[in-house]
Amino acid sequence: MKHRSLKLRITFWFTMILTLICMAILISVMAVYQAADRQSVKDKLVKVVEQNVRQLEREDDFADDSDYLQDNVQLMIFNGNGAHVGGLFLYNELNQLPFSTAGFPQEIIMDGKTYYYYDKMVGGKRMEDKFREDFTEDSVEKKPAEEDRLWIRGVIYANDSLFDVTKNHIYIIVLFPALLALAFVGGYWLTGRFLEPIKKISRTAEEIRNSGDLTKRIKIKEKGDELSELARTFNTMFDRLEENFTAETVFASNASHELRTPVAVILAECEYAFENAKDKQELYDAIAAIQKQGYRMSYLIETLLVFTRIEQNTEKYPKQKTNLSPPVRSSCADFQLIADKEITIKTDCPDELYASVNRELFMMMVNNLIQNAIRYGREKGYVHVRMSEEGDFVKITVRDNGVGIAEEELPHIWNRFYRGDRSRSSQGTGLGLALVKQISAYHGGTVSVVSQLHEGSEFTVTVRK
Ligand code: ADP
Repeated sequence: MKHRSLKLRITFWFTMILTLICMAILISVMAVYQAADRQSVKDKLVKVVEQNVRQLEREDDFADDSDYLQDNVQLMIFNGNGAHVGGLFLYNELNQLPFSTAGFPQEIIMDGKTYYYYDKMVGGKRMEDKFREDFTEDSVEKKPAEEDRLWIRGVIYANDSLFDVTKNHIYIIVLFPALLALAFVGGYWLTGRFLEPIKKISRTAEEIRNSGDLTKRIKIKEKGDELSELARTFNTMFDRLEENFTAETVFASNASHELRTPVAVILAECEYAFENAKDKQELYDAIAAIQKQGYRMSYLIETLLVFTRIEQNTEKYPKQKTNLSPPVRSSCADFQLIADKEITIKTDCPDELYASVNRELFMMMVNNLIQNAIRYGREKGYVHVRMSEEGDFVKITVRDNGVGIAEEELPHIWNRFYRGDRSRSSQGTGLGLALVKQISAYHGGTVSVVSQLHEGSEFTVTVRK
């Protein structure tokens, strides 16, 4: 419904603007046309009057009476005193007008219509007597004082006003609304076509909402315009939503699966202890097994909580300018004490290396990397922890010469609950590297790894200073 009103609104405004533009063009064209037309009427008036002046000067006469109306120019002849000497005298107003010596046509309105008149004095030979014969007693009685002077006055209708011109072209009046109606219908159809992608977007969004099927996508043409671009953006958004939704589902299922195992072990141990434990030692063993699973569950739950808190960007992990070297060195020293496989831990950090971090999270990240390097390290191998500044970032590199990672595994190691083939039997949960990635991103940094199977791995993480 809303969409339809948008379509109508666009069409309406488009037609309105088109109407205004057309009207402006029409009026301008007509005004120019009228101005040119009036100018040609004036030119004609001047031409006819001057021709007749020349003729009178030359030949002393008009050919006959019909010559007083030439080319729509009405001619009248006065003597110098304004008395009629010859010609057509249809309008009284014209008889009383003083002669104009401006040298160009003058405008006069008679009976609500515009006329032009043009006066020109006849020089040369005197003509009055000749005309006097044809005229009333009146003019004879009023014998002019300036008898030798003759004037010709030409009068012509100034042609139609703009309104009259339009009236004369009645087809414009009919054609104009017809063209606008055509523009409206065409505009409505075109707008509908232009808005089609929006319709598709809302249709697909509605289908997804109704069916909950996130696999649906908007069909887009290969070569599209901005709206197709919008549809493409929506499709990308649907991709992301689907990805996230699937990831959430997988995450929830993995999390419950990971928690189910220790719970099953705990229940089995309890059952066994109740039914079969014969002595204190067996009970002790059962409790020890239960405790181990309890720790594992606790770690899992804690880690999941950290993920959630970071994702929700809670106030739980405020950042603070911290010298990173002391805690990293101290952690390496601690790991050296508990490291198995006779692994040597080397540290290479400047004394002071400041960055704005949440210390708890930062150490969680570094410890996870060192722990992995030991866990997947080789007998009598080494773990090398380095820290350095790199532009706006602090770079932490943890290198080992352990089992390494196969190339096909590399893209997956940062996923939650992913555990490599060689580590299935280990105590890991598959959450360590996912947490490392999330913590680094929380600090505006990135993660990367270079690894060679059986040679070792080098993990690099950065945090923004
Ligand atoms: P886990 O709890 O299994 O260690 P992580 O998320 O920490 O989970 O690591 C994911 C997988 O990446 C591991 O199962 C392992 O296969 C691989 N991995 C991580 N660190 C190393 C390393 N230093 N050397 C070799 N493989 C590693």
